[in-house]
Amino acid sequence: MFTSPASPARQRRQRREREEAALKRDAALRAAGRFDALELAESGGTIAGALDPAALPRLADRAVRPSGLPRAAIAWRIAGGHDALGRAALTVTLEGSVFLVCQRCLGPFAAPVAQETMLLLARDEAELARLDTEEPEVVLANTPLDPVALVEDELLLSLPFSPRHEQGECAAAGPARDQRGIGESPFAGLASLKAAPGSKQ
Ligand SMILES: [Zn+2]
Repeated sequence: MFTSPASPARQRRQRREREEAALKRDAALRAAGRFDALELAESGGTIAGALDPAALPRLADRAVRPSGLPRAAIAWRIAGGHDALGRAALTVTLEGSVFLVCQRCLGPFAAPVAQETMLLLARDEAELARLDTEEPEVVLANTPLDPVALVEDELLLSLPFSPRHEQGECAAAGPARDQRGIGESPFAGLASLKAAPGSKQ
């Protein structure tokens, strides 16, 4: 039996509907954000992103957002692959900075973050239990993983236990530096120029 081909208008509408459905599906995946770690390891793929560390719930009591300064950002990358023994693994790389509170002067400062960690992937609970006794970092990958939670884990591990400014950079050291600066400031020269005409009178 002969069926008439769909009209061009109808084809366009169907194509648009398909595209919209694909967009919605991609947006849902991005929102969920989870990924199959074993599949990423197998394919050697990489996922990446950036986030504001102060927005991470488990960093809320440590990371701060000082007003008047640009927001700190962490660029992250999770690369799938294998370790030297051929076991499925992820390499998590973090780069950026976090604003922490200095334990000496209680002022905020940007602590640099540059971290690369390899996480072994366990396919089930039994493998997790076995690997956990031998390896420092093992992740159970039998369900899709949340990249932000992985980044948060690694970031927490990389933060200093007792964060402090570099020696001599504390806010408490500020006034001392300012006092030293008075003799050298351009205003000192200006003051002596202003005094000069008065001294002639
Ligand atoms: Zn300080």
